[in-house]
Amino acid sequence: MTQVCLFPTTSVHGAAGEFPTCPRRGPLRSVILAETGQDVRLCANCTNCDGLTVPGMDLTLGEIIRAAARNDPQALTCATLSACEDLLLRPIPCTAGLDLTSIIIALQREAELRGPAASSEAVQP
Ligand code: SF4
Repeated sequence: MTQVCLFPTTSVHGAAGEFPTCPRRGPLRSVILAETGQDVRLCANCTNCDGLTVPGMDLTLGEIIRAAARNDPQALTCATLSACEDLLLRPIPCTAGLDLTSIIIALQREAELRGPAASSEAVQP
């Protein structure tokens, strides 16, 4: 039986000592929309999700969503992405009806895919 892999099986990072490369993948809002069907531009900046915190978070969930909406590299490089695993275990209420869990998981995958290049790849002209 032939298996089809939907995710890249090769690293986008260069070999040791090489400058990391990453194909441009478009604005973060487009990546998230394609992967989850969620439009981060709908975030109403209501701050209702800002109270959901765990140790190690440097941005609130709302700040990450809005950073992704404006294609800010912080959405991929913030410590919150790896610190908020416990928050993803239960539904996260959102005033705009966004599925925050799937958005955060999409950002985690994107950060892993882009690797060290994430901090410079997010913002495009
Ligand atoms: S609850 Fe939803 S709409 Fe409100 S700030 Fe958080 S992500 Fe944005």
